[in-house]
Amino acid sequence: MDIEQFRKEGYKAIDAICEYYAGLEQRPVVAQVEPGYLSKLVPNEVPEKGEPFPSIAADFQRLILPGITSWQHPSFFAYFPSNATFEGMLADLYASSVTNPGFNWACSPACTELESVVMDWAAKMLGLDEAFLVQSGVGGGVIQTSASDSALVAIVAARSAFLHAHPNVSPSDLLIYGTSQTHSLGAKAALILGLNFKALEVYPTYQYGLRGSTLQKAILEDRQKGKHPFVLIATLGTTSTGAIDCMPEIGPIAKEAGLWMHVDAAWAGITLSCPEYREKAYLKDINLHADSFCTNFHKWGLTNFDLSALWVRSRTKLTDALDVTPAFLRTKQSDAGMVIDYRNWQLSLGRKFRSIKLWFVLRSYGVEGLRAHIRKSVALATHFADFVQESSIFELCTPQSFALAVFRLAPKDVETPLTQDQLNGLNRTLFHKIAARSDITITQTDVLGMFCLRLAVGAQRTEERHIRRAWEIISTAGVEVWADYQA
Ligand code: PLP
Repeated sequence: MDIEQFRKEGYKAIDAICEYYAGLEQRPVVAQVEPGYLSKLVPNEVPEKGEPFPSIAADFQRLILPGITSWQHPSFFAYFPSNATFEGMLADLYASSVTNPGFNWACSPACTELESVVMDWAAKMLGLDEAFLVQSGVGGGVIQTSASDSALVAIVAARSAFLHAHPNVSPSDLLIYGTSQTHSLGAKAALILGLNFKALEVYPTYQYGLRGSTLQKAILEDRQKGKHPFVLIATLGTTSTGAIDCMPEIGPIAKEAGLWMHVDAAWAGITLSCPEYREKAYLKDINLHADSFCTNFHKWGLTNFDLSALWVRSRTKLTDALDVTPAFLRTKQSDAGMVIDYRNWQLSLGRKFRSIKLWFVLRSYGVEGLRAHIRKSVALATHFADFVQESSIFELCTPQSFALAVFRLAPKDVETPLTQDQLNGLNRTLFHKIAARSDITITQTDVLGMFCLRLAVGAQRTEERHIRRAWEIISTAGVEVWADYQA
């Protein structure tokens, strides 16, 4: 493709993307294809001769789009949001146009320097302690691919620091703490690193967040068994119910016990941009006690996948664990200690130029625009939660957490109260009924044996009418399922 062809096909591509968005609401939310659909439609072998680009682009429309679930659809309420904005798309395009592997400052100085700038902007926007700023010269922020990578990197740094301080400890005795509600990233990090993950118990009385007493007891018991807890993954906004671990209790205990506290705020961290949520999200305690903090701008932060923001209080703990510098990677700026080489702040060597996405998004929306997006999502989720609470056959399973409502069919005023098994059965049926639809999507979850439905608001185009429609669909299905059950 030459420059003029690129110009022509590029314009056409933007037009096609605009058409997709203009018609988004009329599209199914969930891809309506069966497993293996694509392999029946594309050749088995790579083409021997190159093909004209227009027919390749046409196949995106014909073959790929039908297999795409539209996460930007206003009636997408599953999992957590995965925002994409036009600003982010254009940023990706510009980033691709200057592709480079970005591992060292010298690869392309703008990439490293912009990352440091936007990570400081974002840290200030979220109210993180100055210690987490690149400007501090001590801590700093780095963009990772995912919250799982962020946690893994933090744990690698924590492990290295712990083993350095306790050279006689065997790695097989190290323990990573989380809770039964911690994202699977905790168990996965343990699996990758050959360590053990221990899920501490949480209780409905504290809305499934970790209490200090539980942590304290676990530390004592595990140490008596010769184990060495060295890291605690504390969650701000768990995946299942949006629970928040009790940072004011667990922070000081973790610190006193020498545990590295990594705060996984993959979804809810972005709410810290709004001052009114900071107390509920324990910002003060995070600032006092967290060693690392992660939030995904690629979830609810208007930034296209991928952009996971990780901040650490001590950058040398990262680089001590991850800096491997053969001669061919040395540069005079690095040797002089004048620059950051982000390769030493992550697992892989090469890295995408992702900071440009956050730069475009933060400049285009401003803090005000981002706050408005978060506040709107929370208000819409409240609207849905109000419907649930006013209903005689539904209930909230846990109090609404930010823009997440976790609920179930639980008819009140019945002669014989239903057992948990019966309620779970009813809700499974309800979930399957809704999952069979193409015009809305929600997810299920299991909260310590209670089968629940989750509705997470956060797509940029969701309005009140979509919430009203979602409730109409869900409540009608609920009435039908309950009537069938009684028949
Ligand atoms: N942590 C929490 C609380 C999450 O909800 C999720 C995903 O939804 C993750 C971590 C995983 O994020 P990632 O896909 O970026 O690893």
